[in-house]
Amino acid sequence: MNQSIENVIYWFRQDLRLHDNIALQNAHAKSKSVWHVAHNLPNELTSWGFKRHSANRHFFRQQAVEGLTHALQQHHQKFISLNDVTPNAIVDLARHHNIKHIFCETLETPEELQQLQDLKNAGLTVCDSVQSCLYEDNQLPFTVAQTPDIFTTFRQSVEQSNPYRNNQSVHRPLDSIYPLSQKPNLTSLNQTSLTLALDDRSSFPFNQSQWCGDEYTALQHVSRYFSSQLPQTYKLTRNALTGIDYSTHFSPWLAHGALSPRKVWQALKKHEKEYGANESTYWISFELLWREHFRLMARKHGAALFKQNGLKNKRQDNEPHQFDQRQRSRSSNSSKLDSHSVRSPRHTPSNNHNFKRWQTGETDHPLINAAMHELVTTGFLSNRLRQIVASYAIHDLDINWLAGAAWFEHCLIDYDVHSNQGNWAYIAGVGTDPRGGRRFNTDKQMKEYDPDGSYQKRWQA
Ligand SMILES: Cc1cc2nc3c(=O)[nH]c(=O)nc-3n(C[C@H](O)[C@H](O)[C@H](O)COP(=O)(O)OP(=O)(O)OC[C@H]3O[C@@H](n4cnc5c(N)ncnc54)[C@H](O)[C@@H]3O)c2cc1C
Repeated sequence: MNQSIENVIYWFRQDLRLHDNIALQNAHAKSKSVWHVAHNLPNELTSWGFKRHSANRHFFRQQAVEGLTHALQQHHQKFISLNDVTPNAIVDLARHHNIKHIFCETLETPEELQQLQDLKNAGLTVCDSVQSCLYEDNQLPFTVAQTPDIFTTFRQSVEQSNPYRNNQSVHRPLDSIYPLSQKPNLTSLNQTSLTLALDDRSSFPFNQSQWCGDEYTALQHVSRYFSSQLPQTYKLTRNALTGIDYSTHFSPWLAHGALSPRKVWQALKKHEKEYGANESTYWISFELLWREHFRLMARKHGAALFKQNGLKNKRQDNEPHQFDQRQRSRSSNSSKLDSHSVRSPRHTPSNNHNFKRWQTGETDHPLINAAMHELVTTGFLSNRLRQIVASYAIHDLDINWLAGAAWFEHCLIDYDVHSNQGNWAYIAGVGTDPRGGRRFNTDKQMKEYDPDGSYQKRWQA
């Protein structure tokens, strides 16, 4: 496509940002005029009997979309927010304005691939780019199809070919296409605080201005976090159950794309240069590599990750089931999970009664009940508690892991199809865990992480 095109659509999908957005830059470079389009989240009833997403996630995304609207309008750019996420809405818009080219982010999960196929079937040309990962495909020491299923093998090979201490191992994020000079005045913020029962117990109070979903706030948060000493102790605090600073809290912005992982990486490296590198600062990159791995797993395994048996029938890797020291320490006090989601219409929770008790926090376990109450109320839950409640659902209550994952999809403001599916499947033993799944002893976890019961008191219904 060498000649400039008259009009194109840029479709914001899970990349609600102006910085580090190659597909958006391509759209601007290759056309005379760009229609910027974002969409609301689909909210159909799922086959599990609940809506696809909660009001919390809806509002958080709305804040991100509003931030984009504000930034683009300031630069006199055309911006449309669609109520409908179906490709039909994009096709109608394109036809109306005689547009033939759609630029957007590549998302290689089944539903999202189908959306692009639908656009192509309608005669549109789709120019998409993978752009929310740390590494370019050509920086990986394997092809996507050959990505090791075992995280440790993956991490070691990636770190060998892109040494962590090398500041260029992850490419610099692209600059913002337009400067974001001021915090947008979000009308959804007022609406959110009026509508939602968020309170000062929340670990991610997005009804407060410094936690809003927009890109400007995301970048401010990254800057604030890395200007503090918090990264220096991240590894020691990351397993806490509650609070606003025990972990980075980047995930909601990363999930909606208001923040690029390369921006985080760049800020992490700058922090290390100024304040020093240690095991804790390294561990932030370690966790970002989990995110990267789950993305690559979704690209490699596609629809299999959304099936009841996950990768179980598919596993052919000959990788040794071994752990290095880092992985061993992770396994003993944390673990990664995989799940399935709302996306598989034929499944029902294998134990419907238990599923309802789990969802509503009415199980026999006070820690689970408190956590499920926090999840539903705020849309956020610490990683430790996500692991505990997922394990309890699957291994203690005999709940279909796909139903559990679907409920997380509904609740989480940081819902990310790759990380959610990957983590739930991991815990269920049908994903990439070389040990065949993780079962947590809930009583033991409670003694270790909530010894005085303060978390349970905080979140009792
Ligand atoms: C059952 C289950 C479901 C999950 N669903 C999601 C989800 O839908 N969306 C999501 O972003 N994360 C999910 N996670 C991963 C993890 O719990 C969150 O990313 C993390 O708690 C977010 O808080 P943070 O940003 O402070 O993380 P930090 O501890 O500060 O980590 C920094 C970043 O590393 C990445 N990361 C950390 N842990 C993981 C992990 N286990 N898997 C993948 N990436 C990770 C995230 O991008 C995170 O923002 C899930 C974990 C479990 C056990």
